[in-house]
Amino acid sequence: MTKLQGSLEACCGCGARFLPSDGPRHAYMISSPSCYQAFGSLLEKEYSNSALTVTHRLNVDTYAVQHPGHEKDRRAVQSHGLHLARLMLQLENVLPPRETNDVMLGMGRYKESLKALTPPPSYRLTVKDVLPFAGTKQHSEKVREWAKATWEDYREHHDYIRDWVKNLPL
Ligand SMILES: [Zn+2]
Repeated sequence: MTKLQGSLEACCGCGARFLPSDGPRHAYMISSPSCYQAFGSLLEKEYSNSALTVTHRLNVDTYAVQHPGHEKDRRAVQSHGLHLARLMLQLENVLPPRETNDVMLGMGRYKESLKALTPPPSYRLTVKDVLPFAGTKQHSEKVREWAKATWEDYREHHDYIRDWVKNLPL
């Protein structure tokens, strides 16, 4: 292992390895400061380009799913399940886009019924794989690949999430 590799710090959420840094983190999505910074760099590009609105939603949901926080924190548990459900709706096209949006907005009211979901041991793709494409022509495509891979990594919980959404009184 080279000196540089040895000094990289793995994010406790997604496992991506970055040089350690000081900086803010989210209140309950647990990550390393450098990982949260990488996410911030993607967000910046998305805020400044309205063509990336759909991508922006996928980015936020995927990042949140990979950084679930503590399972004893109800807020974190609800956020985790809710973002995973949003990911499913956006990737599986079970509803037309307009209804997808309505359901996504409405389902937050029922988040108390979500159970804690164990994350997979590792992820095929993380924010680190998307970061080099931030603001480039491939930005959307790479976020989508990352979102799809993450949804696949959560295969074990697919049925639970699909049923939860299906049974919502919306
Ligand atoms: Zn991370």
